[in-house]
Amino acid sequence: STMPPLLSAIANAGRHGVLAKSAVVMERLSQIDAVALDKTGTLTEGTPRVTDIRPAPGSGLSENTLLALAAAAEHPSEHPLARAIVDAARERGLTLADATDFTSTPGVGVSATVDGHAIQVGSPARRTAGAEADPLVQELQEQGRTAVLVLRDGTPAGVLGISDRLRPDAKATVRALTALTGRAPVLLTGDNERAARDLAAEVGITDVRAGLLPQDKVATVQAWQNEGLRVMVVGDGVNDAPALAAAHTGIAMGKAGSDLALETADAVVVRDELAAIPAVVNLSRRARRLVI
Ligand code: ADP
Ligand code: MG
Repeated sequence: STMPPLLSAIANAGRHGVLAKSAVVMERLSQIDAVALDKTGTLTEGTPRVTDIRPAPGSGLSENTLLALAAAAEHPSEHPLARAIVDAARERGLTLADATDFTSTPGVGVSATVDGHAIQVGSPARRTAGAEADPLVQELQEQGRTAVLVLRDGTPAGVLGISDRLRPDAKATVRALTALTGRAPVLLTGDNERAARDLAAEVGITDVRAGLLPQDKVATVQAWQNEGLRVMVVGDGVNDAPALAAAHTGIAMGKAGSDLALETADAVVVRDELAAIPAVVNLSRRARRLVI
């Protein structure tokens, strides 16, 4: 064709299901020497399911009441864990009370007023679980679950166990990215270390940074870039947006990705296939050779 190579590379990327926002992005993709992957919604399918419902001893709550409280508070949230909790409540036919005063903190969780109670749902690492809930959190995390703590008026109401499946092409993608950059991708996650390590091991990732807040993801990426590595970050969440912006190249997972991630990223995986990413890096390198 008569198209300039970088433009035809954009068109080819589109055929692979990756929307690059400019020709510069194709050039940047060709330069990357390290990859950082988010866990939930990126390496995993992003459709997690509630597997365990554990009211805190002494809370007096039933499984259904605990789940309904958490689901009411999570209802306004677009986070994959929030959707899992709301779906589990719906499957049990539970009625959700209206939530007011909803606030959401990326990498931490949500809070809202439900039935006159202050409900907080989120990471046990960011809030003290207390003696009633600590053993429940530990037990679930040892099973590789994401443990989500529910507090009612500041007191543990219980813990939910949630798990998500790896994407079917996660392992092949990690292998391809390792071959392209000469180093295995790193996993960045706000989730607990144990759940992250179990999953990472299944795809051949050993460098796992867990319990990260959005700004910690940025700091990790910046530290590598200060060492001269050009980092590609792949993520889907609001919590990933700052790291996507800081990266040499930021890629967002399009299907379930948050609006903020899609806006911030340099390129978007529009079909729900992780394997499109190494394919497009490959393509960008070939296009670059044609330009030079
Ligand atoms: P990841 O980096 O794996 O995509 P996030 O940074 O989005 O994960 O979340 C990190 C942790 O914060 C979760 O594992 C969870 O414990 C907690 N969290 C964040 N948002 C929510 C939410 N809406 N409901 C419950 N927990 C949440
Ligand atoms: Mg995510």
